[in-house]
Amino acid sequence: MQFRDLKAQYQALKPEIDAGIEAVIESTAFILGKPVSELESKLAEYVGKKYCISCANGTDALQLALMILGVGPGDAVFTTDFTYFASAGTSSILGATPVFVDIDGRTFNMCPEALEKAIKKVLEEGKLNPKVIIPVDLFGLPANYPQIEVIAKKYGLKILEDGAQGFGGNIKGKRACSFGDIATTSFFPAKPLGCYGDGGAIFTEDEEVDARLRSLRAQGKSPTDKYDNREIGMNSRLDTLQAAILLPKLKAFIDYELDAVNNVAKWYTERLSGTFVTPYVPEGYYSSWAQYTLMLECSAQREEIQRKLKEHDIPSMIYYPRGLHQQEAYHVMQLSDEDFPNTVAATKRVLSLPMHPYLDEETVEFVVNAIIK
Ligand SMILES: *Cc1c(COP(=O)(O)O)cnc(C)c1O
Repeated sequence: MQFRDLKAQYQALKPEIDAGIEAVIESTAFILGKPVSELESKLAEYVGKKYCISCANGTDALQLALMILGVGPGDAVFTTDFTYFASAGTSSILGATPVFVDIDGRTFNMCPEALEKAIKKVLEEGKLNPKVIIPVDLFGLPANYPQIEVIAKKYGLKILEDGAQGFGGNIKGKRACSFGDIATTSFFPAKPLGCYGDGGAIFTEDEEVDARLRSLRAQGKSPTDKYDNREIGMNSRLDTLQAAILLPKLKAFIDYELDAVNNVAKWYTERLSGTFVTPYVPEGYYSSWAQYTLMLECSAQREEIQRKLKEHDIPSMIYYPRGLHQQEAYHVMQLSDEDFPNTVAATKRVLSLPMHPYLDEETVEFVVNAIIK
């Protein structure tokens, strides 16, 4: 059994994907060919933003968005403590300081109260300038934007939505990657919408930001003269081949994969919710289920369940085994576990089960039986 069955998806979409790849090779337009702009407009339309700018990966997307927001040395960038490293590393690489915020123990997303506390602390210390909040749509569930937006407004901060895992989710119909001042996503193969390598995208409502991002992803070039570089940028574009692969995958994602993965979540929850703490989706929220994650009683129970699953050849994963404040790269900050109780509890107790749109009810039953026995 696969944790995320990319082969089953390829089998379902093989004719379209193969034809797309072949057409790109025939055209030899490997960089910024027609499928790239076609994909960008489809993504923007789906998400509900005016502009989509694709780039090389989700990490670059975050860095480019932070460059747009003018983040640099002396700035504090608030992000959740329980996330993939890129949500923080991209601030550090620009010389800014990431400030970690504990999570809500039920949703695994940034806790708004902890966010406000962290902002107040930075203001009191007076060393850093609070600038940007990066909420993460962890495991496919949009972050608590209604509350985070109020806090951002109160303290004059910008919001950058890290939608790398959230693509396809929504809050009362407003789609992930449309929240905040600017939003990003990733097309890493295992994300809700993945390509066959690395890829990413940025979403904005602002025409000038769109133009500047198109320049920044190509060494800061002028729109009219490729060898007139106006500012320091990156080399970060989505390959035409990846765009051609993503086009049929986006269609399948919208047409049936999102529904299918929500059915799988329902099957798991129906069978597991009496016995375990199953994922919490607040009223009005819709998840794209990048992960289906249980909160077990303790690390001993987790070890036992992982062992049982392994006996049945069922893969399971721990996302994430440590909080950002526990990463070696951030040991210099000397942060204490006491300030991140919900993250620390989650690192010890979470377990993610096989999850993808091509799982059938019988297989879910098999996984559940292996756990419950
Ligand atoms: C995967 C991921 C990223 C980075 O995306 P890449 O395409 O792998 O660079 C950023 N943030 C989160 C929350 C992610 O899960």
